[in-house]
Amino acid sequence: MPDVNSAIVTYSPAYTIVPTYECFNRCTYCNFRTDPGESPWMTLSTAENILKRLKNEKVCEILILSGEVHPHSSQRQAWFQRIYDLCELALAMGFLPHTNVGPLSFAEMQKLKNVNVSMGLMLEQLTPALLKTVHRYAPSKVPERRLQQLQWAGELQLPFTTGLLLGIGETADDWWTTLEAISNIHQSYHHIQEVILQPHSPGNQQIFNAQPFNPHQLPAVISKARQILPPEITIQIPPNLVKDEQWLLACIEAGARDLGGIGPIDEVNPDYPHIQEQKLSGILQPAGWKLVPRLPVYPKFDNWLSKELQKAVSRWRKVLNPTSVDNHRFRNYLSRRSHKNKNINLQIQNEA
Ligand code: SF4
Repeated sequence: MPDVNSAIVTYSPAYTIVPTYECFNRCTYCNFRTDPGESPWMTLSTAENILKRLKNEKVCEILILSGEVHPHSSQRQAWFQRIYDLCELALAMGFLPHTNVGPLSFAEMQKLKNVNVSMGLMLEQLTPALLKTVHRYAPSKVPERRLQQLQWAGELQLPFTTGLLLGIGETADDWWTTLEAISNIHQSYHHIQEVILQPHSPGNQQIFNAQPFNPHQLPAVISKARQILPPEITIQIPPNLVKDEQWLLACIEAGARDLGGIGPIDEVNPDYPHIQEQKLSGILQPAGWKLVPRLPVYPKFDNWLSKELQKAVSRWRKVLNPTSVDNHRFRNYLSRRSHKNKNINLQIQNEA
């Protein structure tokens, strides 16, 4: 966990696997979903081929991000099993899975804990007003249901990432209420690793007709969020959605210390390509910030994991520890491989 008083900013070298884009919700700002039945599910052999290409490259985290199958659908069990199997495969191939696939039952969360080092779900906003607007046709976005996921994650000792989507019709007071709710749940279980502050950034597929969240407002929101959230929760911002370099630096000055998963594609915001590590370092370094890779689980949560997961995590800590000689070697290794990575990433983008 980057200390808010240190000059370290973290990111997770990640790749996103999408089991399916089909989703029974229809959030009007969505640029991800297809209608149910219109997105073939990713097979294990396709995933295996992708993971084989990523092996020994600059990827530690496999983010499993999926559209949702209705809890009462006859397909739900198969959908869940596919997600579980993809996590298991990623783990067996040496990666660290982090799943974010919408609200789950307690039993589903409990099972996924066996094959994930952490999990996530955006709380987005707690105000029920959005159920009449952007979430009118999105039953999964009932605020109490999402808050319950945070509670269950705490009961299960699951290291968890959540966050707010800013600029979808809520008020500034709604932000503080949502942040206070996250803070309150965390006080009971101490399980929230990161809170993402994600500015709404319109894409080509969405039907929600609204301006992007003004990124120039973000530093002030971060600053207030930093006062509401306990210091051990890291604030994350997606740098591809804060394009102006000066404002990105202002967000970090205001208290953001993590830039999230950086990989070839931002699946949720496909119109906003990720800024890659070298370029981000070039922005941060002259201002005195050091960008370092992190794992999808923070060290203080390692003892919440099964022995098998702890072994996988400990292998990665040896290569990603920012103070170790190994990390220096790893960075040299990455820069030697950067040309090759570019080609692989382009190839994967073309195939995705
Ligand atoms: S934002 Fe998520 S839950 Fe909403 S429609 Fe898109 S994929 Fe489904």
